[in-house]
Amino acid sequence: MGNLLKVYPEFDETPHVKMPAEYKWPNADSLYCKSYCPQHPGVHKVVFALMDEICDAFESEAFHAGMDEVFYIGDPKCPRCAGKDKAVLFANELTKIQSHLALKNRKLWIWGDRLLDGYITGLGMWEASINQTHPAIDLIPKDVVICDWHYERADPTAVYFAIKGFNVLTCPWRKPELALIQLEDILRARAQSPRPVRERLQGMIQTVWSGNEQFLRGFYNVADDKDPNTPWNCFRKLFTRINEL
Ligand SMILES: [Zn+2]
Repeated sequence: MGNLLKVYPEFDETPHVKMPAEYKWPNADSLYCKSYCPQHPGVHKVVFALMDEICDAFESEAFHAGMDEVFYIGDPKCPRCAGKDKAVLFANELTKIQSHLALKNRKLWIWGDRLLDGYITGLGMWEASINQTHPAIDLIPKDVVICDWHYERADPTAVYFAIKGFNVLTCPWRKPELALIQLEDILRARAQSPRPVRERLQGMIQTVWSGNEQFLRGFYNVADDKDPNTPWNCFRKLFTRINEL
């Protein structure tokens, strides 16, 4: 919705959905984020150039493409995507990005939510998919790294991804007690799994959904820290425990 669709409005999957003057969720359009149309003939030239530039600048061997909370996909009004299988659209786009990165030996990382069935698991529309993208889990390359985020409960989905053949990292946010349960879950699952599964349970990543400055202020100002549920406190508790192992 920022520069990409501003400069290339023709890439918009849902050009008929106009940005409201005042954004509110929920809304009639189910507008959370915009999507680019993965089947627009011009989109990958631009997106790949952007990815390459970012990876080159950071000298990165991996690229996290996000691909989470995709609500607009296979829109019935898109002349290219209407009526297409959403899992196939998602898997094809992911595979294109993965293949492009692989040309320079770079790995694709993504969030895992679109690959989980939100109805069957009860995880719902944010942490999982209720827009038919989840069968993509069996259509995408196995060397995609899954960041399995759960912020309100230690849902044990990392094992699901590992059994499906993906390297997976469990991602907490701001609740230290949950992060510690997630860590215990990984250790228990590793201890009770055959080697291939054990090795795919690769550990944890602390997520931070603020600017870096706010995180660092929190991290270094221990005395001002009244709320125990903060990403810096979660990071501190989790990595203290990891370092004890
Ligand atoms: Zn489309």
